Amino acid sequence: MSKLFNRVALIGIGLIGSSLAHAIRKQNLADDVTGFARSEATRAKALELGLVDRIYPSAAEAVKDADLVFLCSPVGTYGALAQEISATLKPGGILTDVGSVKAAVVKDVLPHVPQGVHFIPGHPIAGTEQSGPESGFAELFVNRWCIITPLPDADPRAVERLVEFWRACGSNVELMTPEHHDLVLAITSHLPHLIAYNIVSTAADLEEVTSSEVIKFSAGGFRDFTRIAASDPTMWRDVFLNNKDAVLEMLGRFSEDLSALQRAIRWGDGDMLFDVFTRSRQVRRSIIAAGQDTASPDFGRGAPKNQ
Ligand code: NAP
Repeated sequence: MSKLFNRVALIGIGLIGSSLAHAIRKQNLADDVTGFARSEATRAKALELGLVDRIYPSAAEAVKDADLVFLCSPVGTYGALAQEISATLKPGGILTDVGSVKAAVVKDVLPHVPQGVHFIPGHPIAGTEQSGPESGFAELFVNRWCIITPLPDADPRAVERLVEFWRACGSNVELMTPEHHDLVLAITSHLPHLIAYNIVSTAADLEEVTSSEVIKFSAGGFRDFTRIAASDPTMWRDVFLNNKDAVLEMLGRFSEDLSALQRAIRWGDGDMLFDVFTRSRQVRRSIIAAGQDTASPDFGRGAPKNQ
């Protein structure tokens, strides 16, 4: 099979950029991969790991002659980067991104996209709490969804090429509007991260429970929140600043439901608690049935080695 693209440029080589590089190599999706990273350390690491053929300290240089350009840095950087690369983007090429919010990315990037370049935003629903160029792996996207949010006037052939790229990385692809994406992700990803950050910060502030006790007894549930709350602070700051409306809408609903649970506990309404917990258990079972998580006990951790 011929390669999907001649040259792919990765702007930002962290978890997602390096995973894309691994997937491109493994699936043989491009002849040539160029990269941009702002720090010398990341540029050196990307070359050492063979993630890219060439790496540049200038994004404008990195995208020259690229048929497919991925923005892979925190979403708050996209506007300035798009402005910087605007003059060197290849006519007929595709500019896409992997950002966790979509409407704000369209607002920031679209004004800088030259005539003849296909701007097709995207978001792989795949990640870990790790960051940096060493954290990537080719299988990150396998069996995970990738949401593409084409604009109304997008060229269907360009969209199809991008869809084909993500399918070749192992993803299932779904198309939707940027606004709908932001609403869906607000509840499935952004709010869970906010709750995790908040519960870990509440625990850290407690005075009557010592921090060593919080760590010692963390297997009671807290530990699973700490994994999410270990995610990159810059990335998540930018997500909340750029998906404000949808997150506030979901947070409002969440707070109402939390108050209802608070009332049920106060008044001893066991039936209400039981019904909510039973419904939640069903959701977990549906996620496993859809192949989006492992059914192994304790999330597949197994018994700790020192027991
Ligand atoms: P990451 O591992 O922290 O890597 C971020 C990359 O962006 C690094 O190469 C970093 O450069 C670069 N960068 C940071 N600030 C920059 C700036 N001001 N100007 C230019 N480059 C800058 O992040 P990631 O997890 O790959 O996330 C990248 C994007 O993917 C984000 O937009 C995020 O919303 C999206 N995303 C993340 C996940 C996830 O679970 N992590 C999942 C799906 C989508 P240096 O290394 O030189 O500092």
